[in-house]
Amino acid sequence: MTVTVVNPATEGVITTLESAGVDETDAAVARAKEALPAWRAVSPKDRGTLLRRLAALVEEHGEELARIESENVGKPISGARGEVGMVADVFHFYAGAVDKHHGETIPVAGGIDLTLRDPLGVVGLIVPWNFPLNITSWKLGPALACGNTVVLKPAELTPLSALRLAEFALDAGIPEGVVNVVVGKGSVVGQRLVEHPDVAKIGFTGSTEVGRTVMKGAADTIKRVTLELGGKSANVIFADADLERAAAAAPYAVFDNAGQDCCARSRILVERSAYDDFAQLLIDATRNVKVGDPTSADTEMGPLISASHRETVKSFIEAEPLFRGDAPDGKGYWYPCTLVEATNDDRIAREEVFGPVAALIPFDDEADAIRIANDTPYGLSGSIWTRDGARALRVARALETGVLSINSNSSVRVSTPFGGYKQSGFGRELGLHGLEGYSEVKNVYYSTEG
Ligand code: NDP
Repeated sequence: MTVTVVNPATEGVITTLESAGVDETDAAVARAKEALPAWRAVSPKDRGTLLRRLAALVEEHGEELARIESENVGKPISGARGEVGMVADVFHFYAGAVDKHHGETIPVAGGIDLTLRDPLGVVGLIVPWNFPLNITSWKLGPALACGNTVVLKPAELTPLSALRLAEFALDAGIPEGVVNVVVGKGSVVGQRLVEHPDVAKIGFTGSTEVGRTVMKGAADTIKRVTLELGGKSANVIFADADLERAAAAAPYAVFDNAGQDCCARSRILVERSAYDDFAQLLIDATRNVKVGDPTSADTEMGPLISASHRETVKSFIEAEPLFRGDAPDGKGYWYPCTLVEATNDDRIAREEVFGPVAALIPFDDEADAIRIANDTPYGLSGSIWTRDGARALRVARALETGVLSINSNSSVRVSTPFGGYKQSGFGRELGLHGLEGYSEVKNVYYSTEG
């Protein structure tokens, strides 16, 4: 069995790889298990040094990694460069975090009580195709910092940057067997990792549907799981907001990465009194999004990941949209920026499209905005645009979502926690919170009596 890796912008074949099965997965888990005792014994200072070297290699080879990612995912090169920069920053952050993940001493009678942090063991990391290298680093950084060894399964569509990163890990001096990459089908390799008795934890990012399968599969061995799943995030625009700024930013909050982003603010909720003005500003701003060749420095949006995914995205557009932008013809899985008017009950507002399609939904007042924003099974991300600071904080409190920004659409920072409420998953990645998902707390009581 082989995996054919395709450039979504040209439909050209980049390379063909062997597809691993259960035996190769088991062998990788065995290698990771064998490497574990020595890796967890590496001193915190040395583990930090190795992670720092990995960060430095990512920086040194940043352009190469950005080109791999751009070609394999179809993402614009400027965005890919930014993502690779973040990957290096993530490894720098966790290099510095190794010796700051402290235990506690807890006041108790008759002795001293202290907590220790232990690694979990061999962890399975399952990564999607939309941000392959970034999402890998969010899991790999804290996993290694905490002393775990890793079997990483990239998405079948986008395995190339993970394979190169594993080479850099070896070059950095991280011992053989600590980082293992297995390229193969999710239903085979991923499933085996989920079921494998020697895998202690699954760090998963992907669809809510597969997340559910992972959670069920993990139950048999009581594996720990972190699930970062789908989203249907609301971008809430109040009439008192800086409408020009909000409208200029909104297209990039949903069309970035061609909308293939779990944080995409694909429900744009606008206060009714400002709806018409905002809609016009949004159309004007969307018209300016530069769609085309991902290798051009000024391109802002590339193609979708695959032909079948484009069919899925297309299926959401049932009537003439409010606005449809331009996209290249011919080879490549192109789809234009699309704005539709909707109610929150429409399919477009309920399901994750994972493409460049945004739904505009009017609301009456603050209470109505909160009701609509929360009326979704998801709860990953979102934005609030208003000049009223008290209202911004009131609404932020009321929204059932893990990551929010006020007068901004950013969701992800190296040092801040990222993750979802409700069916967007659980557990937090990034920041110091990311370490919690890759360690156990051990409590030790030492009697001082007698
Ligand atoms: P999936 O959830 O199918 O894939 C995510 C990862 O899980 C991939 O590495 C995949 O491997 C693996 N996987 C698939 N099946 C299993 C399984 N049974 N056990 C363990 N691992 C498995 O996402 P898709 O790529 O199919 O995308 C479908 C939809 O999911 C998108 O349209 C979008 O709505 C959502 N999605 C959300 C993401 C997010 O960031 N939250 C990211 C990607 C998708 P393989 O690639 O080999 O199938």
